[in-house]
Formats: sequence, C-alpha cells, structure tokens
Amino acid sequence: MRLADTAMYRSKKAGRNQFQFFSPEMNADVLQRLLLTSDLCQALEEEQFEVYYQPQVDLRTGSICGTEALLRWHHPKLGMVPPDQFIPLAEETGLIVPLGLWVLETACRLVNEWQGDLMIPLRLAVNLSAVQFRQDDLAEQVANILQKTQFSAALLELELTETMLMDQVERAQVIMEELKKMGVTLAIDDFGTGYSSLSYLKHFPIDRLKIDRSFVRELTINPADAAIVEAMIAMASRLGHEIIAEGVEEEGQAEFLFANGCYEIQGFFIGHPVAATDFSLRLQDQVGKIV
Ligand code: C2E
Ligand code: CA
Ligand code: CA
Repeated sequence: MRLADTAMYRSKKAGRNQFQFFSPEMNADVLQRLLLTSDLCQALEEEQFEVYYQPQVDLRTGSICGTEALLRWHHPKLGMVPPDQFIPLAEETGLIVPLGLWVLETACRLVNEWQGDLMIPLRLAVNLSAVQFRQDDLAEQVANILQKTQFSAALLELELTETMLMDQVERAQVIMEELKKMGVTLAIDDFGTGYSSLSYLKHFPIDRLKIDRSFVRELTINPADAAIVEAMIAMASRLGHEIIAEGVEEEGQAEFLFANGCYEIQGFFIGHPVAATDFSLRLQDQVGKIV
C-alpha cells in the first residue's frame, strides 16, 4: 500500500487524471526529497546560501542598467543544488518566507554599496515566490528592509508571475498598490507562459514585462516566436509598460529585439549569473571604460 501511495502521489503531481506504476526510482526520489528538505531547514542558519547576480543591459548604451538576484545553495555534500530543485521544497516548508527576505536584504545591502562606490544607479530585480506574495505583511517587510539597508525604493523591482496575480486577483491588487505606494517597481516574470488572460494587464499596476526565454530561444528561426515577441513589444509600448527580454543567448536575438524596440536584455549573451565579487569587477570595468 505504501508503494502504491508513492505511485499515486507521483500521478497526482503529473497532472492528475492518469495512472503511474510504482518503480524503485520513485522511492529514491521521495527519499532524496525528504533528505533535501531536512538539509534545507538548516541551510539558512549554516549560511549555505549565496546570491548570484546576472547583468541586464541597455542595448542603446551598451551599459549594465540592472541586475537580477538569483539564489544559489551550496549543499555540503551535493555541491550546488539548482533553485528549480530546492525552491519548491522551501515553498512547501514555508522556509521561502525567511529565505526570500534574506535574499532581498543581502542584495539590497550589496547593490547599495556598489551604487555608492561607483556612483551609478543600478536597478535590482528580486524574485518573489507565490508563498511570500500571500503573506499579509509583505509590504511591511519590504519597507523594513529598504529602511534597514537604505536602498532606494525606486531602484528595487520585484518580479511576480502571472499565475501569482490570477490566484487571488483582489488581494494581489491590494498588495501591489501597497508596494507601488512605497515607490517599488513591479515586473511580470516569464511573461506569456502563465495565465492566458490578458485582462490583468489593465487592472494591475505593472511597470515592466519580462519576455520569457521560451519565446526568445528560436526567435530568429521560428516566425511564430518572432510574431509573438513583436506583438508583446507593441503591446507593452501601447500600455506604457517597460519591456525586457530574458534568455538572450545570441547576437541575432539581441539584434532582432533592438530592431523591434525592446532595448533591455538579460541572458548568457550578456553574462551568466555570477558571484558578487565577479559582478562587482564587471561593474568596475564598465565604469572605468566610461570615465
Ligand atoms: P527566473 O526568475 O526565470 O530566472 C532566470 C533563470 O534563467 C535563471 O536560472 C538564470 O540562470 C537562467 N538564465 C539566464 N540567462 C539565461 C540564458 O541566456 N539561457 C538560459 N538557458 N538560461 C538563462 P536559475 O538561477 O537556475 O533560477 C531558476 C529559477 O529559480 C528562477 O527563474 C526563479 O524562478 C527561481 N529563483 C531563483 N532565485 C530565486 C529567489 O531568490 N527567490 C525565488 N522565489 N525564486 C528564485
Ligand atoms: Ca526572475
Ligand atoms: Ca524568468
């Protein structure tokens, strides 16, 4: 019965209304999840997390205009565990709430230092989890961190997903208004992959759309992707939203985006997410070139 239960759990997770036969790998998966979950609970205390920074570039100037903070977990035995694997676990256990605040505070403090040292305004993008978004005191917590780190609210951009907004439309609106009042900007991450309703675009106070990398990947060879991206750029422009494309890996993709009016990009073509010291070197290099 226990093994059958494991198979049922897997079947539900795969989208329900289907069946799965038990296989020994499933047990190994469950065990792995359990082990990771218990390790995760100690990881924050034991300082195993690190924030990486990926550059966002304005193609009109060629300069870094922003950075996205991306969480990394250095597991003592397994090495680097990718966020896609541990963030769902952190969400299930609730650890994502303190962890998300830790990312925000760590990144605000550091980016503030860079801004001060190099005298450049640098936008900081931080991902919010749906679980954090459901906390009643989210805006208050963000305000506390801004105050504590002396980070300028106008340079903080919180990344939300379409699904988060559509889950509880009215509550989302209230929280977003609270954040906007503080001067924080809001971006829709993975734009075009979540909820298919476009009506939310006119109701929510959104500053920026982030074109998901699934549309960018084949931009130069797939006419359907090209058409979708062109339409997204036109829509953002008509609605008065800023736009940025993520997952840009090749020059051709950057050229297409520039030619069609999307000037900000993020992706391996510009730079991978890197540790703080490497990112600060890159910033210094850029400032050195301008001076
Ligand atoms: P995301 O927010 O969509 O972040 C972008 C992901 O795409 C990052 O993966 C980044 O390394 C990767 N990426 C960037 N440029 C390229 C590219 O040119 N090509 C390809 N193939 N990939 C690229 P990463 O760092 O593994 O993060 C995965 C996801 O984990 C993030 O997706 C985000 O949803 C979540 N995540 C990361 N850090 C945090 C965090 O602090 N809080 C929360 N709630 N979620 C986070
Ligand atoms: Ca993101
Ligand atoms: Ca994304």
